[in-house]
Amino acid sequence: QPSTVGQAVIPLVNRLQDIMARLDGDAAAGVELPQVAAIGGQSSGKSSVLEALVGRDFLPRGPEICTRRPLVLQLVRHSAPEEWGEFLHAPGRRFDDFEHIKREIQSETDKEAGGNKGVSDKQIRLKIFSPNVIDITLVDLPGITRVPVGDQPSDIESRIRTMIMQYIKHPSCIILAVSPANADLANSDALQLARLGDPDGSRTIGVITKLDIMDRGTDARNFLLGNVIPLKLGYVGIVNRSQEVYSEDINFNRSIKDALAFEEKFFSTLPAYHGLSQCCGVPQLAKKLNMILLKHITDMLPGLKSRINAQLVAVAKEHAAYGDTAESTAGQGVKLLNILGKYCEAFSSMVEGKNKVSTDQ
Ligand code: GDP
Ligand code: MG
Repeated sequence: QPSTVGQAVIPLVNRLQDIMARLDGDAAAGVELPQVAAIGGQSSGKSSVLEALVGRDFLPRGPEICTRRPLVLQLVRHSAPEEWGEFLHAPGRRFDDFEHIKREIQSETDKEAGGNKGVSDKQIRLKIFSPNVIDITLVDLPGITRVPVGDQPSDIESRIRTMIMQYIKHPSCIILAVSPANADLANSDALQLARLGDPDGSRTIGVITKLDIMDRGTDARNFLLGNVIPLKLGYVGIVNRSQEVYSEDINFNRSIKDALAFEEKFFSTLPAYHGLSQCCGVPQLAKKLNMILLKHITDMLPGLKSRINAQLVAVAKEHAAYGDTAESTAGQGVKLLNILGKYCEAFSSMVEGKNKVSTDQ
């Protein structure tokens, strides 16, 4: 039930963000929309988790640094069977082949951050249209590293931390704090950074990856239950594809569907995870995300509306001062803010409608 409501409401947010991306910094300032950002150490499995949520192979991933620019990934659910991608930097060009999407991300990364492991904070924005996703915007961020390699500057660690903080400090950002289960979870980079960005833990989901390659005789049950580091929104355990399977995937084109089946079997056969179905597996993570996002949007709506109204007034004044040139920046600002205002109205009435239905029941 909540996921149906989520699917009806969240497309509005995605459209809002498209408009935001085209606004200049001044007009966009102060209007914060919910996004989901994956953070964590390098190779903790961030890109793998995001790919699994989308259900397709399209993100550069592997044991070395692959994600070197923030990738803002907007998932758009539609009813047609086709799946394709579209980049903001190449409007109107439809990417039907997900291998091409991966290559485009790589070449755009090289264009901005160089070919030798350099990192840039300039976003790549990608929309994926698919019948198999929930409507949500995800951000894949470069992982935290300690030792500079290639063209990376000596202060690479603090640069990446600063870049990640820019995303997760926003009260509207939902944080996926990704930690691999085969490292010391109590020292997780992701959980430490998430605590800085979200001190009261109200928008951090713990994601534990690589449960399949933990030391023999150990499991993550206590961690998933929040007995080690408690988190308000809890944890979800994940089993993604390993590097070995990944290279097989390239050769034999094995699907993410098989990986999901493997994950399901993993959780149902290991006694350590019995009774934990709520916090195990990619589908549970997707469900959790959708519900958290909806609640988040509902909470921030009144504030968003009044900020947009305030900006509308300010820009209208500016517009009047410049005269009636429709092509002026101010004129375009008024148009955009008017559209934003309408989205907010539509949004509120949908949420109110939903509340009414639930009190009627
Ligand atoms: P990122 O740097 O955090 O984006 O991590 P990637 O998603 O690129 O993953 C790093 C490596 O770990 C890749 O080779 C993945 O195939 C592998 N990997 C990710 N998740 C899992 C998992 O749950 N189990 C196993 N065995 N390998 C994983
Ligand atoms: Mg990555």
